[in-house]
Amino acid sequence: MADKYAVIGNPVAHSRSPEIHAAFARETGQDIAYGRILAPLDGFAAAVRAFREEGGRGLNVTLPFKHEAWNLVDRHSPLAMDARAVNTIEFREGSMRGHNTDGIGLVRDLVANLRFAVGGRRVLLMGAGGATYGVLEPLLREHPRELIVANRTFDKARALVAHFANVRGVATRSISARPYGELPGASFDLVLNATSAGLRNEMPPLPQDVFAPGALAYDMVYGRDTPFLRFARERGARTADGLGMLVEQAAESFYIWRRRRPSTAPVIAALRAKTQA
Ligand code: NAP
Repeated sequence: MADKYAVIGNPVAHSRSPEIHAAFARETGQDIAYGRILAPLDGFAAAVRAFREEGGRGLNVTLPFKHEAWNLVDRHSPLAMDARAVNTIEFREGSMRGHNTDGIGLVRDLVANLRFAVGGRRVLLMGAGGATYGVLEPLLREHPRELIVANRTFDKARALVAHFANVRGVATRSISARPYGELPGASFDLVLNATSAGLRNEMPPLPQDVFAPGALAYDMVYGRDTPFLRFARERGARTADGLGMLVEQAAESFYIWRRRRPSTAPVIAALRAKTQA
């Protein structure tokens, strides 16, 4: 019988994870069945336990349960521990292990797919929610010259920077929090949108001169032309959405579960073709 995996969230109907993992399984010859679980907002832990009792081998966790998953698992990978969020659960040898693959996915998309070296660059990261917690440490490990976190609720950006100041082995001297209102006059080589603003056709209040020449503007929201991406294009920046990150973080989950590394380029291309159709 095929090994069972699923993505769990609320809502979850929109998730592309089942088709991504089905493509990975076909390519690597793995016999898996990957479904969707809509967990009630107050029933995440019960849904995870039920899936495990049915013989489930692993879960991807999406909004709004990533922090709850962090509390639920009994072991954490170092990245998940620091991120305070779990997007991948592995049921192995009687334990429930939590991982966070979002940051690895983002960095692979930037560095390997988009050929954008983060090292030595000035980076603006917008948002201070779960996505920002997940990507911050892998980004810092690329050694940007400077990484500024801006968030609408500034206290959250400040708390996030204080949290990562205690993380071992990352260059925390290069990271700081700044309100949007204090950004004018500073320009960045990489502007990352880790807010959910694009889902509501909104964008954070960026100054006109935020992009340095040759800058990359990256929106983690995928499959839609967000106001942030339009703003960036109109100012001559190169742009990318979060589709590559989505596939790369899934590939890392697949590797954790199956110890096989699938090719991501054909899956990104196939999903891209569908979103443009
Ligand atoms: P979250 O925890 O709900 O945080 C949302 C963040 O967006 C907060 O910092 C919030 O600011 C900010 N925000 C929302 N509307 C805004 C607006 N109009 N102007 C300025 N800031 C605004 O969500 P999350 O888990 O961090 O996810 C953020 C986005 O990343 C989502 O759209 C998600 O789909 C995407 N994502 C993509 C991938 C991928 O693989 N491509 C992976 C993970 C996440 P306040 O603190 O002020 O409320």
